Amino acid sequence: MLEFADANYQSRKTYFVEVILPLAIAKNYTYRVPFEMNNAIRVGKRVVVQFGKSRMYTAIIDKITEQPPEKYEAKYILDILDDRPIVTETQISFWKWMAEYYMCNDGEVMNAALPSALKLASETKITLNREFLGDKTELNDREFMIVEALDLQPELTISDITKLLGQKTVMPILKLLFEKNIINISEEVDERYKPRMRTFLTLNPVYHDQEQLRELFGILEKRAPKQADAVLAYIKLSRQQKAISKTELIEESGAGASSINSLIEKEILIAQEKNVSRLHMEDEGIFDVFDLSPHQQEALTNVKQQFEQKDVVLLHGITSSGKTQVYIRLIEDAIAAGRQVLYLLPEIALTTHIIERLRQYFGANIGVYHSRFNDNERVEVWQKVLSNDYKVILGARSAVFLPFQDLGLIIVDEEHEVSYKQFDPAPRYNARDAAIFLANMHGGKVLLGSATPSFESYFNARTHKYGLAELTERFGGTELPVIEVVSIAEETKKKTIQSHFTSALMLDINQALDNKEQVILFQNRRGYAPVLLCKVCAYTPKCINCDVSLTYHKHSGKLHCHYCGYKEDTPSVCPACGSTHLEYKGFGTEKIEDELAMLLPDARIARMDLDTTRSRNSLQNILNDLEEKKIDILVGTQMVAKGLDFADVTVIGIINADSMLKFPDYRANERSYQMLAQVSGRAGRRGKQGKVVIQTYDVKHRVIKQVIENDYRDLYFTEMEERKSFNYPPFYRVINLDIKHKDPEVLYNQAAYLATELRKNFGDRVIGPETPLISRIRNYYIKSILLKFEKDGVSVNKVKATIRDVITQFQTTKLSKGSIVQPDVDPY
Ligand code: ADP
Ligand code: ZN
Ligand code: ZN
Repeated sequence: MLEFADANYQSRKTYFVEVILPLAIAKNYTYRVPFEMNNAIRVGKRVVVQFGKSRMYTAIIDKITEQPPEKYEAKYILDILDDRPIVTETQISFWKWMAEYYMCNDGEVMNAALPSALKLASETKITLNREFLGDKTELNDREFMIVEALDLQPELTISDITKLLGQKTVMPILKLLFEKNIINISEEVDERYKPRMRTFLTLNPVYHDQEQLRELFGILEKRAPKQADAVLAYIKLSRQQKAISKTELIEESGAGASSINSLIEKEILIAQEKNVSRLHMEDEGIFDVFDLSPHQQEALTNVKQQFEQKDVVLLHGITSSGKTQVYIRLIEDAIAAGRQVLYLLPEIALTTHIIERLRQYFGANIGVYHSRFNDNERVEVWQKVLSNDYKVILGARSAVFLPFQDLGLIIVDEEHEVSYKQFDPAPRYNARDAAIFLANMHGGKVLLGSATPSFESYFNARTHKYGLAELTERFGGTELPVIEVVSIAEETKKKTIQSHFTSALMLDINQALDNKEQVILFQNRRGYAPVLLCKVCAYTPKCINCDVSLTYHKHSGKLHCHYCGYKEDTPSVCPACGSTHLEYKGFGTEKIEDELAMLLPDARIARMDLDTTRSRNSLQNILNDLEEKKIDILVGTQMVAKGLDFADVTVIGIINADSMLKFPDYRANERSYQMLAQVSGRAGRRGKQGKVVIQTYDVKHRVIKQVIENDYRDLYFTEMEERKSFNYPPFYRVINLDIKHKDPEVLYNQAAYLATELRKNFGDRVIGPETPLISRIRNYYIKSILLKFEKDGVSVNKVKATIRDVITQFQTTKLSKGSIVQPDVDPY
């Protein structure tokens, strides 16, 4: 017996695993595997490890070796959490590529990639899931202790629970409780996607018999005339459309809900709950099939042909040309070939509108993934992608991190959108570019779609790196809207402007209201007024943490900082000179909404910006109200530009185009064109031609002219000349380094040091240090160093390695104390 055990011991090998910790650390650590776990270790499984003095983390196994680490003694892994890897090897390679490319650490990518419920750590907060209705008596002692403790104290950290149970690791128990839906891990907003149900009615087939129907009428007319009206209205409606909702019937018959309910009770009408498209019922029916128009068919064939040679194709299709319909055909093909599809959209465009539209075609195969979902649902989606249950994923930028098995196609809709870029924290990645790499790893294709492509993508298409397909007509032949440019200066002189609304714009708004049509007004600034100014001494209140003036918000009655969230009371006298002559300068969406309400007291006005869409479902509620025509005029920031598709919006007003056009950035013209063309694209989408009014001081601005003429190419060629002569992308690669410190003088020296070191390597490719537009945020002063590299003859990888070396060397100096250095590759 003893002999046998010994022999067995001899044959045991000692394994080590390199793991990725969810931390911003430069290298990965190696841990030792206890013998009894030898058979269970796999790349991509989660393990519990100790890091630092006493902190516990979930880490991902990245490599398995027999080589102990050289410089330190490996600690043991404490636990393995998974029976099966939850991260694929392809994903780990993808993470490593991202960390390399965007100059950050594997751990930072892991943090962005995994839903928080999958990366328990000592500080992770646990709460009870109040919606759990199952049987708690089946819990074992330990589980019961945890649940009981959470009943008394609604929130506990994992450390708390470790102490409570007096055992080393509690993560496996918590993982089980989470899977049983008993606890929540780091509670976030809960905005689960809920399909909207509507009650539809059909006439009991008995009454298809004319005789029976006549008899029914006879009875109803005498005893319940309202119910008779309702049945008549039903028959009338059923001649025009295939599905009749209860709401419609109530409206059409004027009979009231109680009469309809009686008909349902008597089984004269049969009610059925159906999941409906929120925004498209009227003109598309419920389970509609569609044919591509000849133009769309041509574009589709073109895309497919180009996919034979190219991995990426750009679909340049004007607004409302039906790009989505082309996507649907491509998705069908990919699914038929047994592969997965990722459909990326900007966060804000991920409304039930598009989700329902796609569910109609792909049913239960489609998963949705974005930041407004809670963690439980994100984990659910993660598992279903891993097990290949979801064939199509509709998601915002973070969906590139899902554990795809076999990705055949990625669609990046509105590929020009800035929101594909993550600004903070690292990884500062662009999901469009990451998607191209990801598809490549899977041997899949990428379709980029936009009415106003980014110059990078258009450049790649024109130089034949990508394929190019075009859609130049709106679906159904609807004309692009008529665009009128109105001079604010002139109307001010003639005194025909009322508050911020020119007479030209008011005329169109009134006309739309008379025709029971809807209006969208765009003002790219939220709040009421961005600046409060003392008329006597010119004092303006500034944020105490940032170098920005505070914006007045009428709703809260306070001054807000849009960078750090700081708020203070609005002063009634000037804090500097005591004068009471304080004036609000500039205007945001709140003020537009307010003043419009005074001019048009009967109009129903709503506002859509960051402030009105913060709470759960609020965005969806605004969109539903717009669809149901409970809103006449919607005032909003750039949010209104994204993918809204409403039949009755006929007038779009741009309150002031100037701030956008004058923004000091080399992309200002590209951005302004995109914004103006996209907002305009919301007008007259189905049938009716729309009208756009652009208010500006600069009526002759070249970009406005290009928007009017729908001349994207002219914009592109003129701008590219400038980009070329000033060494900007797409001709050059740009890397930005932000250096931050709480003391401006120390920062000055640090930035100067780094710039000098970088110049030693790259000469005049280094620009700066410069002070950015906003020189202090959250008490950190900021300096930027810009690096520009020509595309030919320079190895990006070498460049990045050198920059890393310079930063690492800097961080070993005394001077670097307290500094933060943030590289941003391909900054926006
Ligand atoms: P885009 O994404 O190019 O702006 P959409 O795909 O949203 O355009 O299409 C605009 C409108 O036209 C939508 O309401 C869509 O349902 C409709 N549409 C486009 N193509 C077709 C088609 N082939 N059959 C039916 N409706 C279509
Ligand atoms: Zn003053
Ligand atoms: Zn601030």
